[in-house]
Amino acid sequence: MTESSLHHLAAAYSLDALGRAERTRFDLHLAGCYLCRETVAEMRTTVGAFGEGLAKEPPPEIGESVMRRIRTLPQDAPRTTSVRKRGRGLSRDEAVAVLLPFAVAVSMAAGVVLLLLRG
Ligand SMILES: [Zn+2]
Repeated sequence: MTESSLHHLAAAYSLDALGRAERTRFDLHLAGCYLCRETVAEMRTTVGAFGEGLAKEPPPEIGESVMRRIRTLPQDAPRTTSVRKRGRGLSRDEAVAVLLPFAVAVSMAAGVVLLLLRG
């Protein structure tokens, strides 16, 4: 991984999505890269604000309603056929590659929503 490609790990680093080795390399990079420090700070601020903005205690009647509905819904019979394994699953890098754009998009959307809410 080149020094310039380390810039691309800023978002994953912000979301604590890097492995130990990548995190260590990025920590070293971060100490000398103002751009990445800014990116990490902005991402963490946005994600934190998004979480705070969404944190809301649901009214107690929702829990009672859900439990009442669960008790009255008919359940599917258990499957009797075996389920074939579809593969080995995603590696950590593949999972990051799939989830990272989604996480960035959600963070950006949260930032826009917060900006709109603050007027
Ligand atoms: Zn950088």
